[in-house]
Amino acid sequence: MHFCHSYYDNNSLVDSSACPLNRKQLNSHFYARPQEPVAMKSSVEFTSKLPDVGTTIFSVIGQLSARHNAINLSQGAPNFPCDPLLVEEVSRAMREGHNQYAPMTGWPALKEALAAKVAALYGQHYDPGTEVLISGSASQGIYMAIAALVNAGDEVIFFEPAFDSYAPVVRLQGGTPVGLKLQFPDYAINWDELRAALTPRTRMIIINTPHNPSAQVLTPEDLAQLAALTRGTDIVVLSDEVYEHIVFDGRAHCGMATHPELAQRSVIVSSFGKTFHVTGWRVGYCLAPAELMQELIKVHQFMMYAADTPMQIGFAHYLQHAQNYLSLPSFYQQKRDRLVKLLQDSPFKLLPCAGSFFVLASYGHFSDEPDSEMVKRLIVEHGVATIPLSAFYMDGTDNNVIRLSFAKDDVTLERGAEALCRVKG
Ligand code: GLN
Repeated sequence: MHFCHSYYDNNSLVDSSACPLNRKQLNSHFYARPQEPVAMKSSVEFTSKLPDVGTTIFSVIGQLSARHNAINLSQGAPNFPCDPLLVEEVSRAMREGHNQYAPMTGWPALKEALAAKVAALYGQHYDPGTEVLISGSASQGIYMAIAALVNAGDEVIFFEPAFDSYAPVVRLQGGTPVGLKLQFPDYAINWDELRAALTPRTRMIIINTPHNPSAQVLTPEDLAQLAALTRGTDIVVLSDEVYEHIVFDGRAHCGMATHPELAQRSVIVSSFGKTFHVTGWRVGYCLAPAELMQELIKVHQFMMYAADTPMQIGFAHYLQHAQNYLSLPSFYQQKRDRLVKLLQDSPFKLLPCAGSFFVLASYGHFSDEPDSEMVKRLIVEHGVATIPLSAFYMDGTDNNVIRLSFAKDDVTLERGAEALCRVKG
């Protein structure tokens, strides 16, 4: 509001007499604005590039949930604080003056820490100089990989239910999204179906493990199948592994970096948001062989140039303590088990959850209400917000399943479960 005064005046950085309006005029200029902005109408005609795409379900349900003051088990965002030490590391970087652009591909110490972590956990060595890229969120990493590598007319195969950004981003490049359906209730990949779907135009296969929303994970046998099916082709695997540290019951994460042959054709996308409870900080990263990475970097440099500097420095320090991410499976397993127990007497049937911080609940045995109607009713009548699974399909397939997030504090889990238990089965 008072940009001619305050900070700059107090610090004598500018001559405030240079401002053409005095304080009184400035105030009346701002406060005279109408409270309700008048809607403006565009004077240009254009054809939408995504005519059938509306607002993402996570935003729609989040708003509806807030309007009804519902217990929010919808978006996969923790409602508990992150480690104060991480906040301190980032704040310290700001206080120390690291407030300008980072090197374009990322803060070197962070890229080195990531390369060391991946080598230690999964065995694959990535060159921090040429094979690691820090992005502004995993969503941006996914966008960059598709924008950089998919040409008009190319086909991109992924498995539905799928995260809602994949198909629109493929279409924005002129590519064709090919959704293969995982079958309710197991949601396992049918590799024969994938084999049958491959064509000479197949440019990319998008994998997501642990899988959002089905909470299933790939096994070493799955990776062997994927390697066999892509061997001798030029198909790129885009592997969305943002839940890499949230795998349960003693399982190991089977990402592309655990399979040297697949790593050579893969772009791995991951995120700090899910691992360190800071989804709002919007920092993620990509790993890929240098030749593929070079193409991603060409997009990244013009999309955002460089990710947030103080956060990268904070993460670089915080990653030095492996316990900060190795403790995640037991942390979330307790939450999963708590929610499952709390919902024991609800009319919903919970499906097995091997990873991620989501669990699916099916209700087809007591209602054939469309899942979007069920979700609305749960918010409005029962005060609990969830996500309808149909939002994860291009054709809106509805198996009467909803997704619950257990990335929530104990009180929220209890209150959310109470509300779900009040539903009449
Ligand atoms: N991954 C989150 C979820 O599935 C949402 C992320 C987003 O809204 N972009 O809930």
